Amino acid sequence: MTVPSDQDRSEEAGLPAPPADGPGLFGDAGPPPAPVTPDAAPAAPYRVLARKYRPTTFDDLIGQETTVRILRNAFALGRVAHAFMLTGVRGVGKTTTARIIARALNCTGPDGKGGPTADPCGVCPNCVAILADRHPDVLEMDAASRTGVDDVREIIEATRFRPMQGRMKVFIIDEVHMLSRNAFNALLKTLEEPPAQVTFIFATTELRKVPVTVLSRCQTFALRRVPQVELAAHFDRVAQAEHVRFSPDALSLIARAADGSVRDGLSLLDQAIAQGTLDGEGGTDAAPIGVDLVAGMLGLADRGLVFDLLDAVLEGKPDRALAITADVYVRGGDLGVMLSDVLELVHTVSRIKAIPALRDNPELPEAERQRGAALAERVPVPVLGRTWQMLLKGLSEVEQAPDRRQAAEMVLIRLCYVADLPPPGDLVRKVLGQDAAAAPLRVSEPAGDGHGAPMAVAASSPVTGGNPDGGNSAIRMVANGGMQVESTPAPRTGRVAETAPAPEPVVPPRTWRETVAFVSGRDAMLHGHLRHATHLVSFAPPLIEIRIERNSLPGLARRLETVLREGTGDPAWQVRLSEDEGEATLAEQGAEIIQLHRAAAQAHPLVQAAMQVFPTARLGEVTDHALDDYGLPPEEMAAQNLAPDLEFAPLDADLVEEDDLDSDDFA
Ligand SMILES: [Zn+2]
Repeated sequence: MTVPSDQDRSEEAGLPAPPADGPGLFGDAGPPPAPVTPDAAPAAPYRVLARKYRPTTFDDLIGQETTVRILRNAFALGRVAHAFMLTGVRGVGKTTTARIIARALNCTGPDGKGGPTADPCGVCPNCVAILADRHPDVLEMDAASRTGVDDVREIIEATRFRPMQGRMKVFIIDEVHMLSRNAFNALLKTLEEPPAQVTFIFATTELRKVPVTVLSRCQTFALRRVPQVELAAHFDRVAQAEHVRFSPDALSLIARAADGSVRDGLSLLDQAIAQGTLDGEGGTDAAPIGVDLVAGMLGLADRGLVFDLLDAVLEGKPDRALAITADVYVRGGDLGVMLSDVLELVHTVSRIKAIPALRDNPELPEAERQRGAALAERVPVPVLGRTWQMLLKGLSEVEQAPDRRQAAEMVLIRLCYVADLPPPGDLVRKVLGQDAAAAPLRVSEPAGDGHGAPMAVAASSPVTGGNPDGGNSAIRMVANGGMQVESTPAPRTGRVAETAPAPEPVVPPRTWRETVAFVSGRDAMLHGHLRHATHLVSFAPPLIEIRIERNSLPGLARRLETVLREGTGDPAWQVRLSEDEGEATLAEQGAEIIQLHRAAAQAHPLVQAAMQVFPTARLGEVTDHALDDYGLPPEEMAAQNLAPDLEFAPLDADLVEEDDLDSDDFA
């Protein structure tokens, strides 16, 4: 199912008579392959596994059942498309599939009388010639190296002639997305009305780069990444055919590194066999090629070491973590790769925790399942989440740092240090100390990344009358790892509905604030001036008296009057200017309230305790969800006490500067 690299193939395509293919794994006739052992080297010229075991029939294609089923149906019904688009990651079998289609179209059967078939015989002259890459009617082109319109013209020219030997001329164009725009355009005309005896098979790793005009004329097949289990099983068969023994974990590791690509996996298998043979492993009488050799070959840190490292980090043992790092470094391992191995392990452990059935999943190597399950048992989810976040951050640091080793060590030290820090949930419990017994505590683990120092505290509104001892507070964690203190009962009332302008029925404003709100949806500029530069002197509908600040909007009173009259349909509204001082502007009132909120939040014992533990923490933005758009409490309940309702940002929230917190935020 795998094919040689593109260069490989295009070079070969030019050869008049490439070396005949030897025995294949899947049904090709021929003597069994010679065992690969140091003292019994194969007599035949060595061929890479990917080429040797390239599938020659649809049944040999692994992991592409859907594509194969559809193709089989098409052949059975005699409705085979004239243009195919095969897409998928590299090494997944695109050109291999294309060649099988070419043979299926041209096969004449052992007796020379057969028609197109989904099961090409492999022995007729057409099958043999296509297998050997020397069929005159099956032409392959690599669009990566021949992107121009002239190259395509050559093909188009060739489509005019009848097939020389076969039934159908087949043009296989690999990496078709590399063609130039002109080349695509030239191709398009032929695709629109393909000659009866011509089939195009395009292959691409980047379907999105293929023009829709071309795509729409092709039957498209998305070849999927081959799942690890299927890859490992395939590699096992190949290894057996090669008379080389691998440990199951080693094969799993190769399958995982192959990342869905059969070709890549077989190349790795090749390397592992070569290296294992040198080390005296893998032979019929020797020990099987093990996971250590494969891991070393892949540049992966030994899986056991990765587990040890994660253990050290979670137990807060920097000396142990650094010793392992030094070990990996001395052995030539890349410390960035090592950290991403740990990252991957954290992910695996988290998955095992989330889906316990994974403990029995054969996709995971044995060691991973056992030690992973043990870790999943022991480590709480928030700690795994925190470790993941810090590693992810740390990895980008390693990429940017002038010295990768230093950066990796810093990341590990930080992780170890954090392992000792109490989760914020415990901290709050401690802070509340004596009250804890009386308080209905509902504290869950935090999920913040726990860097500790920068901490923003966002309080949502204890104004006057908060209960300073926190006595009847309940604590709960909020979504992103923050925590929230609420009193019981929490008299939370929403914003006053009337502040939003309601188009129908029109409710005439009953207060000055409602008047300003009334304007907000109707005259944005007027609204701004009313809010920031207008002082209410008296409100006695339909008469309103105001004082406006100098430099305010000219004709403001008249403009407001017009909005009110037109908006309510009541011509009685009158707005008069006054010289009296009047109230503070709405903006000023809102700013004042927020200052009170800040003072109250700052004085809250929980905030003070947090400040003591995290001396560099600053009080962040103070918001009150009970306040309306003007930063003012609802008018109906202005006199009531508001219950404390503190909300903390997660520990890794950005530091908020005091300077950013002036009243502008609420204007
Ligand atoms: Zn045939």
